[in-house]
Amino acid sequence: MIDCIFCKIAEKKIPAAIVRESGSVMVIKDISPQSPTHLLIIPKKHYATIMDCEDKELLGELLQTAREIAKELGLSERGFRTVINTNAEGGQTVFHLHMHFMAGRALAGRMG
Ligand code: 5GP
Ligand code: ZN
Repeated sequence: MIDCIFCKIAEKKIPAAIVRESGSVMVIKDISPQSPTHLLIIPKKHYATIMDCEDKELLGELLQTAREIAKELGLSERGFRTVINTNAEGGQTVFHLHMHFMAGRALAGRMG
């Protein structure tokens, strides 16, 4: 997708701190972290929002990736938060599907 920042990162046209990468998903550090660990789990294929993605396997892979990262970083017990913001009232600012992975401090109980 032209002019999509996450497509450009997936195509290595602009740099990002890539934490891991598989055939269909990449994990990068958020450029403006809101918690000590703040990663973005991003499908390489462009879907503007979760509502545009009917690929169950891919949607499952996003969650599976979060589980694997939690294990790798030793966060399974301490805990973490996964969030997918969707459209205007969901607070989405980058219109390429992504899941936030946040951890490293006690996150506020309030979600919105
Ligand atoms: P949203 O608000 O759409 O759920 O989240 C977008 C996230 O992408 C924000 O947390 C923002 O800091 C992050 N972000 C925006 N542009 C870039 C970028 O160029 N590189 C990286 N690594 N993160 C970005
Ligand atoms: Zn894109």
